[in-house]
Amino acid sequence: MQDKILMDNFQIHMVPCLSDNYGFILSDADGRTVISIDTPDENVIMDFLEKKGWGLSYILNTHHHHDHVGGNIALKRKWGCYIFCSTYDFENKRIPGADEAVKDGDNIQLGDFRIKVLDVPGHTLGHVAYYFPDQNRIFVGDTLFALGCGRLFEGTPAIMCQSLDKIKRLPDETLIYCAHEYTKSNLEFALEIEPGNEDLACRRAHVLAKREKGLPTVPTTIAEEKKTNPFLRSHSKLIRDTIGMNDSSNIEVFTEVRKRKDSF
Ligand code: ZN
Ligand code: FE
Repeated sequence: MQDKILMDNFQIHMVPCLSDNYGFILSDADGRTVISIDTPDENVIMDFLEKKGWGLSYILNTHHHHDHVGGNIALKRKWGCYIFCSTYDFENKRIPGADEAVKDGDNIQLGDFRIKVLDVPGHTLGHVAYYFPDQNRIFVGDTLFALGCGRLFEGTPAIMCQSLDKIKRLPDETLIYCAHEYTKSNLEFALEIEPGNEDLACRRAHVLAKREKGLPTVPTTIAEEKKTNPFLRSHSKLIRDTIGMNDSSNIEVFTEVRKRKDSF
């Protein structure tokens, strides 16, 4: 019953920002505790909050890229919200307006929300994900995408694999909120690298139908990604056949798949 009560008492809103980002705004039932996951566009987020009649209590930043922190200062100036980010980004002073550093395993309590921090470096070295175990949701920034993963700007393939494994170990039904709508182009790559994956063929129809109607493909789930996301499937015989790497390690396969996606 406890879960049900919590489920009924919170809301998640997705606000499309910039060309293909999603902003995520979470609130308890009456808008007392309001959290923005990253701040891709202060104007879109402000408009949304003003329409709701809400203020902003907290920002949880996943990493320092501009399309994730660009609205921090304007939103903080307006509402005085408190900003969390990774220890690495905090120490390197690359999160505008940051108040507090968090690290892997930290538990933060914001109003009724209990949030667990996961360090997930790879896309950048200071990347974190925010897991809401009571709500069964995780916000992964640019680490994992539906059918894809983030580019390795700062981390090595081995570091990224470790981060993806960490996410992969969450319960199958966990909803994953990725920060970009990249699914359609990720799908094309996935089909090329793992032809013959029947789950992928099935997902193709769902993704295309959604995008034709302009609907988001986010959130996705751990179960779905494990079945169809090539970056979580280095063990797949089908992928290994495509790239001719049957005797290689999972990290070697991941490295090659990521390399091919970069030039796809
Ligand atoms: Zn990024
Ligand atoms: Fe991004």
